[in-house]
Parts: sequence; structure tokens; C-alpha cells
Amino acid sequence: MLYQTEGIVLSSSDLGEHDRVINLLTEQKGLVRAVVRGARKPRSRLAAVTQPFTRADFQLYGKGSALDRVIQVSLIDSHPQIVSDYAKVVYASYLAEIASELVPEHEKNAAVYHLFTDILVALGHAKELWTVCRWGELRLLGSAGFMPLLESCARCGRDPGGAVYFSAPAGGVLCDNCRVAETDPASAMKVMPGSVKTLSVIAASSTRPNVVARGQVREEAAKIMREYVAFTLGKRPKSLALVEKLEGEGASRN
Ligand SMILES: [Zn+2]
Repeated sequence: MLYQTEGIVLSSSDLGEHDRVINLLTEQKGLVRAVVRGARKPRSRLAAVTQPFTRADFQLYGKGSALDRVIQVSLIDSHPQIVSDYAKVVYASYLAEIASELVPEHEKNAAVYHLFTDILVALGHAKELWTVCRWGELRLLGSAGFMPLLESCARCGRDPGGAVYFSAPAGGVLCDNCRVAETDPASAMKVMPGSVKTLSVIAASSTRPNVVARGQVREEAAKIMREYVAFTLGKRPKSLALVEKLEGEGASRN
């Protein structure tokens, strides 16, 4: 079956001698894995569109099993502001990996497609990459039904007050009483109210949030998200190591 959809290349890998396989987030069919025949031959017209973060109109052919095949592509945006900037590539790759873990294959989810498009535009224009990364993490998780509860205790619904804990298994913050009652109280980490407040403000923003976090709040909010993302996906994203390296170096420019 021949079909047409807008899509964004999340990642790509070599196949055989001449081909590439792309992992596509599409508007019409969710996640699609497709072969681009001859993409690695010299002067291939399709080589450019196998680059990660390329947004294009794709014509594909698929039989519903195995890999689909790219027939024709018309480029919409190659996101030059991202691909020319190492830190932006690192963040975009990490958020693309989260999307590819969360979005089911061949199931239409136009909302998550438009969200990811917005995330790439925000990364392209952002100075504060840390904030866009937290926003991307939270909104992608939210789009799959995993938005963490950050304003009130995930168990009793009360304001946790000054003693706030974050528990990935509980899906958000816990008050001290509920933490003690958990089967594994040690899995909840004590956090500063400012860290969850910062994440909460970022999560509530429907467009790129105008938030700058510094110092301990910045470190702790990132740590909360690392833990929660790994718990929700059931594994640590491979691309997280490079994000941690950037954030550890303080390279996400202020
Ligand atoms: Zn509680």
C-alpha cells in the first residue's frame, strides 16, 4: 500500500552496502521504520533526507509488516539551527529517543507529531537548552499519559508542604507521611520544593517556557527527570550519557 505522510527522521542506520533505515515519527502513522534504497550511493538524491531531524513529506510503500520503503520525499525543514550546533544535536537525539520509545508503530498520533515538531523548533531557537529539554521530556511523557504529579502528593493529594519527596514508582511527589507508608520508602528522594515547582511551571507551559533554573534547583530538577524517564521507559536512554556530560560541564549556555 502506498501512503503519504509528513514525518521527522528520529534516527537512521546503515543497511547492507547502499541503503539506510530511518526511524520516522509521522503525522499519519505514528512511528514508522522505513528503508531508503541507495541512500549511501554517491550522488543519491535521498541521502540528505535520511539525516536526523529532517522534516519532510514522505511517500512510502508498506505491506503492514517488516520495513516500509521510502518512494519519494519532499523536504520541509532540515533544521539547520540544530544540526550545526553540537549541544542541540545531543538534546534533540535524546528527546528523539524518548519519542521513539513512547510512540507506538503504525498508530496515528498527530498530537505527538506536532508536539515533537514544536520541540525541534524550540530547540532551534533556544538559548536555554536545559529548559527546552525538561519541557520536551515532560510534554512527551505527558502525551503518553505519564505526566508526573508535581503539585500535590501522588498518594493522598495533599500539599506536601516543606518535606517533599519524589518517587518515580509513585508517579510524582510524596508527602512525608505517604513516603513512610510506601513499600520501598528508600526509592523516594528528598527534594527541594523549588525543584518540583520549577518542573511544574515548565510542564504547564504549552509553548517553550520562559524559565531559567540555576544552581542546586537546576541539578536536582534534571536528576528527578533522569530518574523518572528511566523508570517510565524501563531503561536508561542510550543518548542520556551525552546529555549528562553537557549538563555536568554547565555547557547548556545561560
Ligand atoms: Zn501524601
